[in-house]
Order: sequence, then structure tokens, then C-alpha cells
Amino acid sequence: LMQLSIPLNFIGFVYREIRQAITDIEQMFDLLDVAPEVTDRPGAKPLKVTQGHVRFDNVVFAYETDRPILKGVTFDIPAGRTVAVVGPSGAGKSTISRLLFRFYDVREGAILIDGQDVRDVTQESLRAAIGMVPQDTVLFNDTIAYNIRYGRPDASQEDVRRAAELAQIADFIESLPQGYDTVVGERGLKLSGGEKQRVAIARTILKAPPILILDEATSALDTHTEQEIQAALDQVSRGRTTLVIAHRLSTVIGADEIIVLRDGRIAERGTHGALLAAGGLYADMWNRQREATEAEERLRRAREQD
Ligand code: ADP
Ligand code: MG
Repeated sequence: LMQLSIPLNFIGFVYREIRQAITDIEQMFDLLDVAPEVTDRPGAKPLKVTQGHVRFDNVVFAYETDRPILKGVTFDIPAGRTVAVVGPSGAGKSTISRLLFRFYDVREGAILIDGQDVRDVTQESLRAAIGMVPQDTVLFNDTIAYNIRYGRPDASQEDVRRAAELAQIADFIESLPQGYDTVVGERGLKLSGGEKQRVAIARTILKAPPILILDEATSALDTHTEQEIQAALDQVSRGRTTLVIAHRLSTVIGADEIIVLRDGRIAERGTHGALLAAGGLYADMWNRQREATEAEERLRRAREQD
């Protein structure tokens, strides 16, 4: 019996290990939101970013064939400019950023960077050219320095520190007993959502990519932290082609163009001023958010008086 139970235990062990490995891979794809079928074309060339012009040309996309998410979306982000995408939750805003990063391929139309279809260039070169500050940053179980330097592995300690400063996280890091050598992540020091986002911003500052995607980069933060981070983000996006996906409209006022996405189509587009003057969907969203902010403010003041 002994002799039999050992191998059975062992098989159970191996089975559980394999199961876990599969779960980890599934979680990794989940985390990255990657469709594993996206691969380099034979003979794919590296992307050459000359200006940093981004074009979505009549992009049609569906995750599942019967449920179109984007139904023909066309817009340009001229080199160095900022375009914001706003709209209700589920409208397809994050999908736009995933397609630019080529986590998925478009069903129809094309996405072009300086005239090169993202499907024709190597994924490595594409992802090297784009910096993304996602909604939820997952940090590596490693030091803060490692997590920031990940944006550019050969960066000096001084470069890392300067990036942290611009991201308004240097003072916090330097107040820790181990400073930049503090281990963070699940098994290390747990950082707040705002601190993690600032580490991600520092990483992106260090990477200094020609193209930037900010996907609701400040949505989970309180107003004060948001304003601090917004200043850091404005720093990074200066002179870079930037796609901002925004929940809070206060963060997109300065965008060169605001695109209002609804039901997979562009419902409205223009500058903040022009869209307010038009009195349409954007103006409604703006007024609703302003009322909500004012109500919050009144509530806060009433509490302070108690
Ligand atoms: P937004 O960022 O505007 O809130 P998303 O682009 O994340 O919206 O999602 C648009 C729609 O696509 C939603 O209805 C969402 O449920 C669906 N969706 C997102 N990711 C996937 C996926 N991996 N598989 C299937 N459907 C998805
Ligand atoms: Mg989203």
C-alpha cells in the first residue's frame, strides 16, 4: 500500500503543479488582456517612428463575432498632440487602447503609426514605442528601483530618481527605510492605488516613449491625489502623441480633440469649448459631473461643520 500511495501522491502533486501553471498562464493573459493568436507576420519589420502620427482608419472590431464593439471608428492623433476618448462605461474606450497596442487585431480597417500598419511591424518594436499607464497597475514583486527601471533597464540611479521626482513619488520612496531598494508587490510593501500609479508614471517617464496611452490613469484617486498626478501626466505627455481615456472630464479639458464614443461609434467630436457650446451628449455629461462634484463638495463642507 505504501508503495502505491507514494506514486499516487506524486501524481497528485504533479497534477496540481500543472494546474497551477495553467492557471498562472491564464491569469497572465487576463492581466495583459492579450489574445495569444496575435503574432508577428513573416518578415515583419521594426516600426520606424518618424513623427508619431497615429491614425485609426474605419476600425471595426468585435471580441466575439456576433457582438461588434467598434463599428467604424476614424480619427487621427497628429504627432505630439493629445486626443481624449470619453463616453459611457462599456462604450469601447479601453478596446481602442488595446488595439493600438495590438493586443488584438482589427476586423476591418487599419491602425497606422506614421503610415505603417501595426499588423506589419514587430510587436516588440510596437510596444517599445508605446508607453501605457493602465487603470490598475500591477507591480513586480521586486524593488521599487526595479519596477521603475523596467521602463528602461539601462537607466542610471540618478535617472530613476529624477523620474520618481517628476511622478511625485520620490519623497515617499526616500522616506522608506530601504528607499529605492524597498521590495513592493504582493509579497512586499503594499502600495496604495495612487502610489502604484505614480510608480507606473515614473516608469513611463523613464521609458520616454514617442506615443503614450493613459487609460483612466487617475480615475481611482481622490481629487487631491488626482491633481498631483495630473501634473505629472501633463509633464510626460508634453510633446508626445497621447491618447487619453478619461472618466473624469476635468482631466480632458486641454485635449486638442475630444471624441465622444457611444455604441461603438463616434457620436461627437471637438474641443471642450466647442462641445459644450454644441449642447449635446458631452455637455450633458459635463453638467452631470459638475453637479455631482458640487454635491460632494457641499457634503464635505457640511461634515466639516459638525
Ligand atoms: P470601456 O473602456 O469604454 O468601459 P471596453 O472597451 O473595456 O469599454 O469594453 C467594451 C465592451 O467590450 C464591453 O461591453 C465589454 O464587456 C466588452 N469586452 C471587453 N473585453 C472583452 C473581452 N476580452 N472579451 C469579450 N468582451 C469584452
Ligand atoms: Mg475602460
